[in-house]
Amino acid sequence: MRDPSDVVVDVAIFGGGIAGLWLLDRLQREGFSAALFEAEQLGAGQSVASQGIIHGGAKYTLGLLRDSAVDELREMPPIWRSALSASKGPDLSSARTLSTRTFMWVPKQVGSNLLGAFSKIVMRSRVSSISRSDWPAGLNSPSAKGSVYALDELVLDVPSVLEALKAGHASRIRRIPAGEVAHFESGHARFRIAGTGIRAQRVVLTAGAGNQALLARAGIKEVRQQLRPLHQVLVAGMKEPLYAHCVGRSSRPLATVTAHPSAGGDYVWNVGGSIAEEGVGQSERALIARARRDLPRLFPAADFGRARWSTFRVNRAEGAEAGGSRPAGPLVESRGSFIVAWPTKLALAPALAERVVRLLNAQQVRPADSRIDSLARLDEPEIARPPWERPMAWS
Ligand SMILES: Cc1cc2nc3c(=O)[nH]c(=O)nc-3n(C[C@H](O)[C@H](O)[C@H](O)COP(=O)(O)OP(=O)(O)OC[C@H]3O[C@@H](n4cnc5c(N)ncnc54)[C@H](O)[C@@H]3O)c2cc1C
Repeated sequence: MRDPSDVVVDVAIFGGGIAGLWLLDRLQREGFSAALFEAEQLGAGQSVASQGIIHGGAKYTLGLLRDSAVDELREMPPIWRSALSASKGPDLSSARTLSTRTFMWVPKQVGSNLLGAFSKIVMRSRVSSISRSDWPAGLNSPSAKGSVYALDELVLDVPSVLEALKAGHASRIRRIPAGEVAHFESGHARFRIAGTGIRAQRVVLTAGAGNQALLARAGIKEVRQQLRPLHQVLVAGMKEPLYAHCVGRSSRPLATVTAHPSAGGDYVWNVGGSIAEEGVGQSERALIARARRDLPRLFPAADFGRARWSTFRVNRAEGAEAGGSRPAGPLVESRGSFIVAWPTKLALAPALAERVVRLLNAQQVRPADSRIDSLARLDEPEIARPPWERPMAWS
């Protein structure tokens, strides 16, 4: 039975991290009517925990990703820049850019073997070495010896990006009340949330790690996700706003640092890279002990005098690849009325939206009737705060 108070949209999206929010904007721009349903807070999984780097591919020309992925990544910075200047795509003019570039730091004591390989990368990518007078404060001290390269990578304050995306479409973004789940009607794009019926032509699942449970509820068994865990290090009380990949003998960064302004006027460093991947098997205490020993050695110019230390664990959720390797780009799969998608990287959210739009066009999904008044019965979700702004133990 069709209830006249049902919500009717072309596309219903589950999950409001960067992937779902960017997609919502793109679909509305394409003339589709869409609505987004969030189980907790927007970005609560990976997006607000991320380092916010909009990779341009340079880091990955070091051999970490297949060439196809590098090409796709290279296309992303101009798309993000257009959005940040409100000239094309979503209006992100209110979002905060933390840095317009990152640095590749190759300390002499660990990096000398790399420099040969590095010169090839310099030829192929937009990597330029910079003179010491231009080194950022967090790397520059008389005791710091090595090379610094500037990378054309933006670093964004992710909560402010999510806020800007939400502002454009607030009436279409709703929270699923705690304890409620959407029951899909036998594989159709029809469901109820807290008594409100919702009908769509397609349901898109962009719930990050939550996609697995939604797939099970939709009765889709063949599409699977993989989780790749990280144990990030946090260093509060830092004076320097550093955005840098510290590279050692291998091409994989030993540590990638992004600095997030705190209310007290200093910065919290979110440290990823090998230290966070290898730290997965370590206790919080052991990882902090390692970070206290290694980070001052890798970043001798930084002042750790007032540092306070913590860690957090988070899973990267991606479409499953044979052997558990990192997917080359976003994964978008279609089964009946359902589309499931993982961006693989925050930077690739526009590429995910592009693939979904192409799929809808290929499947002849056309803008049709739309009625969203009853969405007002559900609450608006808030933006999640990053782990370092939540209560946590510091040592
Ligand atoms: C520590 C870390 C650092 C990273 N750094 C970078 C970086 O610098 N640059 C980069 O490009 N990428 C980075 N990434 C990867 C990037 O963060 C992710 O690829 C991206 O944020 C995934 O976005 P998403 O929207 O798919 O998922 P998420 O951000 O996880 O969002 C999923 C949303 O779905 C909601 N949800 C869950 N279950 C349900 C449900 N049943 N119904 C409705 N909603 C639901 C969640 O609450 C959440 O809001 C990093 C990842 C991590 C973990």
